[in-house]
Amino acid sequence: MLVSYSDALYLDHLTPEDHPECPERAEVVSDALASHAAIAAHHAATRGELADVTRVHDPDYVRSIEALAAAGGGSLDPDTWISPRSFEVALHATGTLVAATARALDAAPDDPHRLPFAVVRPPGHHARPAQGMGFCLFNNVAVAAAHARAVGGLERVAIVDFDVHHGNGTEEAFYAEPGVFFTSLHGKGYYPGTGRKGDTGSGRGKGTTLNLPLPLSTSRPAYREAFARALDAVEAYRPQLVFASAGFDAYAQDPVGGLGLEQEDYAWIGARLRELADVHAEGRLVSVLEGGYALDALGELVGAYVNGVARR
Ligand SMILES: [Zn+2]
Repeated sequence: MLVSYSDALYLDHLTPEDHPECPERAEVVSDALASHAAIAAHHAATRGELADVTRVHDPDYVRSIEALAAAGGGSLDPDTWISPRSFEVALHATGTLVAATARALDAAPDDPHRLPFAVVRPPGHHARPAQGMGFCLFNNVAVAAAHARAVGGLERVAIVDFDVHHGNGTEEAFYAEPGVFFTSLHGKGYYPGTGRKGDTGSGRGKGTTLNLPLPLSTSRPAYREAFARALDAVEAYRPQLVFASAGFDAYAQDPVGGLGLEQEDYAWIGARLRELADVHAEGRLVSVLEGGYALDALGELVGAYVNGVARR
């Protein structure tokens, strides 16, 4: 069993009409989880602490987002929008993942709180330390991973990013950091164009970044093979906690991404991540929603992933 985190507050981060990263995304996923048989408990959002956010983000950048929202909103680039409530909403997204992570670390064995799924908006993995982009303002998974290291006292944390776009912001946050292993499977040449195979970390973090760019022609078996290879590398790192940057836009019918995956592939991904978490991380797997824009399927894709994690 898992627990879920979701909140109506995520509907208050507004984007222009026809923007794929729309409030309805949070609604369809929350609805799917509300009636999901593998969810043992539902929790609301928690407001984040600035001290947690600035462990990853430049304080001037954080203040600039707050100021832009307070001034009525605007955009950072043609993709990335801020509405009057966006700063508060984004702060809650980080705080929720930090709270879910802290609770996962405290939970007894077999407590569903070791396996949280957080529905949040805006997504986070493109947010760089000093620049929001790609629909993302604050890097939720990076803030939670940094908290797990600094406050949770963990030595080794892994982040597995299976959104179809490269998690450039997460990579950048930990590129020279040996305490966080980051691996990403993404469409080769897709937005934002980063995540080359040869980018493996720097300094003391050399070897703790693993990028697996996959061409558009990748078959489903080849995707699974690449995913298994990524997890082998994570397993060799012996993480004490596993995060999943759970994007569902590699789904074949996704209007933004698409890399040929079907619903059953997400159940398979969830099951593999659960196995990985069980081996080294005492069954702790913290999943957070990143992308995924096929509104008519997104709820079912997340539901399939949750089934995989729950071994149903
Ligand atoms: Zn994406």
